[in-house]
Amino acid sequence: MSKVFVVDVTKCNGCYSCQMACKDEHCGNDWFPVARPQPDTGQFWCKLKDETVGTVPKVRVRYTPTLCNHCERPACQAACDAGAIYAREDGLIIIDPETCNGCGKCAESCLYGSIYLNGELGIAQKCTGCAHLLDNGYALPRCVEICPTGCLQFGEESALADEIAGARRLQADEGLKPRVWYRNLPGQFIAGTVYDPASEEVIIGARCRAVSGGKLLEVFTDNYGDFWFNDLPVGKWEVFIEPKGYKQKAFYDLNTRECINLGDIAMEGE
Ligand code: SF4
Ligand code: SF4
Ligand code: SF4
Repeated sequence: MSKVFVVDVTKCNGCYSCQMACKDEHCGNDWFPVARPQPDTGQFWCKLKDETVGTVPKVRVRYTPTLCNHCERPACQAACDAGAIYAREDGLIIIDPETCNGCGKCAESCLYGSIYLNGELGIAQKCTGCAHLLDNGYALPRCVEICPTGCLQFGEESALADEIAGARRLQADEGLKPRVWYRNLPGQFIAGTVYDPASEEVIIGARCRAVSGGKLLEVFTDNYGDFWFNDLPVGKWEVFIEPKGYKQKAFYDLNTRECINLGDIAMEGE
């Protein structure tokens, strides 16, 4: 019996319901022995990360719900000298509030920043997978149950095998084997707008090529003169803009560590 979370980021609309539901479930509520109350401020056991990539007007907002990954090889557990962190039979990782002495070593060890220190109670705290609910007959944690789009799923690893196939763990993995799987995490993009300064019109249907290593991608500008190379891996790219009847324009050494907007690209007639 091993439980996992699956997060399909394409379904997240950024409503923050998951984050608020977690607060509602845990702030002011004592679920001992699983958890003491989460403070009203300063902790986000469920945290919706929003990130704006690109530059105006080629901008996209990306939402990624995050929580403790309930790792198969939890760094937090290994770091805890007090032996306060344990794995349940269903795989959920719990910080025992009675044994925890609040030393913070677990928080330092967690690459995902999932652990918070509660100075008032003198303990470390994090997502419990809503183990108190599961133990009382509920099938789902609050954040999963509330999500209106089905972005968040929770259940037996075997039952979610199809969803896990093709999903990825968040980058900081380093052998911890997180049990939160992400589907459709977006790659980087290179975008731009192609226009003719002489006619002051955008150029529709311009061929644009992106090259990296042995990889060649081709797209054509849309009715607004825009092109997008989407879901690119991080790396060095060259982009060539080649509308018929115009001189080629080339961009070299584009590093997709960041999403790139090449802006308005003026073309010169042949
Ligand atoms: S509740 Fe679902 S749709 Fe809303 S922010 Fe959370 S994951 Fe995204
Ligand atoms: S994500 Fe961090 S806190 Fe959660 S189990 Fe893994 S190492 Fe521990
Ligand atoms: S599983 Fe429960 S404790 Fe964990 S983030 Fe979701 S609501 Fe919060």
